[in-house]
Amino acid sequence: MDNTHTHDVLILGSGAAGLSLALRLPPTLSVAVISKRELVEGSTLYAQGGISAVLDAKDSIESHVQDTLKAGAGLCDPSIVRLVVERGPDNIRWLLNQGVRFTRDDAADDAGGYHLTREGGHTHRRVIHAADATGREVETTLESRVRELDHVDLFEHHIAVDLVTTRKLGGEDNRCLGAYILNRKTGRVETFRSRFVVLATGGASKVYLYTSNPDVSTGDGIAMAWRAGCRVANMEFMQFHPTCLFHPKAKSFLVTEALRGEGARLLLPDGTRFMPKFDDRAELAPRDIVARAIDHEMKRLGSEHVLLDISHRPRDFILEHFPTIYAKCLEYDIDITSEPMPVVPAAHYTCGGVMVDDRARGDISGLYAIGEIAYTGLHGANRMASNSLLECLVFAELAATDIQTHAQDYPAPPEIPPWDESRVTEPDEEVVVTHNWHELRRFMWDYVGIVRTNKRLQRAKRRVDLLHQEIIGYYSNFRVSNDLLELRNLVDVADLIIQSAQRRKESRGLHYTRDFPIKDRLQRSPTILIPDSYAPACWNDAARNRS
Ligand SMILES: Cc1cc2nc3c(=O)[nH]c(=O)nc-3n(C[C@H](O)[C@H](O)[C@H](O)COP(=O)(O)OP(=O)(O)OC[C@H]3O[C@@H](n4cnc5c(N)ncnc54)[C@H](O)[C@@H]3O)c2cc1C
Repeated sequence: MDNTHTHDVLILGSGAAGLSLALRLPPTLSVAVISKRELVEGSTLYAQGGISAVLDAKDSIESHVQDTLKAGAGLCDPSIVRLVVERGPDNIRWLLNQGVRFTRDDAADDAGGYHLTREGGHTHRRVIHAADATGREVETTLESRVRELDHVDLFEHHIAVDLVTTRKLGGEDNRCLGAYILNRKTGRVETFRSRFVVLATGGASKVYLYTSNPDVSTGDGIAMAWRAGCRVANMEFMQFHPTCLFHPKAKSFLVTEALRGEGARLLLPDGTRFMPKFDDRAELAPRDIVARAIDHEMKRLGSEHVLLDISHRPRDFILEHFPTIYAKCLEYDIDITSEPMPVVPAAHYTCGGVMVDDRARGDISGLYAIGEIAYTGLHGANRMASNSLLECLVFAELAATDIQTHAQDYPAPPEIPPWDESRVTEPDEEVVVTHNWHELRRFMWDYVGIVRTNKRLQRAKRRVDLLHQEIIGYYSNFRVSNDLLELRNLVDVADLIIQSAQRRKESRGLHYTRDFPIKDRLQRSPTILIPDSYAPACWNDAARNRS
């Protein structure tokens, strides 16, 4: 059977970034969208708060730019921040045209009749939302639109294994020709050839034991791009959300900050309140301070969690304001109207990623990266709330424009040799994969989490090097599976995070190390890791100039 597919554009990932791009490409281009699970599964589906954009007459582009720069702690690229913020309002209009139904407020004349909220770091109301399930509304709307398109082929339950480049095939120049992709239903690796490849595979928060992200967030695209010869930047800046429900069965359930806003207190397992000794604002201190304090107390006590208690507020108040959290906790026999809930901080957002320029172009010609996978320069050392979905939309638009402009310059790729399975056998011991998976996520949490030290990073580096060798051996000898591919990618990404953290000898934004607790004014450039196989594509002057 011929396992080769040919398209003009191959999009790996079907979140806000991947689907927006598919919808923006013209019908003259044939498009394939690849998704590891069902089309809608990914971080986008779970986004709660909303999307930031200047939509209120009293707000301004300048104000959104300044807020973003401030949150980024001196590491944002100001020209990219301005570009994204300026494209914001048009991108929201584009979503409205696709049929996204944002929450309305008929009294909000200045905001075109839409309700805007204000989130941490924003000095104006500028977050447009669909109640508390914005991601679901956006993702399902884009999904139904894309399913209507004849020129877009959708491949669900397919996981990309690796990019195919001219370099890997022995060529001189470095152009992306497509990807090898495992069909999870048949277990066979298929070949996808294309003139352009776009990575839209999301973040890497699954590298940590606790995360708010869904299972698909294993950093696959970052690892694939790195192996193919692309630079990766700012991987030390992983954002942690202070409170996720801690329960063996409650996977990834985020407990909103609004609970603390309404008086919930953080307690040690023995019931002692601890936030006031860390910050005058106590439970209302910024996210990173709260997350660090919880981490400190958990490590000091060797405790698996702390407690969050709102039970002193009236029962009716809790039921009215937090019905979802109440119902979710009750599923695990926790009644938050009468007892505290166990919580842990959780990895939430990957600020760094594959380096791209202001048209989303990566280091290999024909290769783009958009969405959470990419390092664009927008977030710097800390992402401001609700700027990430905006980045997905704007960079999808920029990539679509660039692909359209250059569609004629890129000939169809040459034949790609089929995936070679002749020397591999069925895996003998799946336990190797599951064991290493747990070990990796555990030591990343303990040693490379919210608070770092030189010693912890060295310990983590030794372990990741060992895992790396073991996984490479396993990968070369046995037939690939979804779990093995994800583990291989997580090990690569963990290594990139550790290396980046070791290079930054200061504390800035989301990176905090006890050995260098102060921000160093001289270290105001991104941490850029360059793979041995790096050979810059000729199209990439803008990204290279930033290094
Ligand atoms: C709980 C939660 C709440 C959030 N709230 C907000 C918010 O209010 N506002 C905001 O701006 N941001 C928010 N974020 C962040 C935001 O949702 C994400 O940054 C954004 O949705 C990422 O979109 P994406 O398209 O890049 O990736 P995703 O939506 O994660 O999609 C990734 C896609 O890639 C596919 N994929 C991955 N690997 C492979 C592979 N190897 N082969 C094939 N396909 C692959 C996946 O199947 C999926 O389709 C939140 C995140 C979480 C987890």
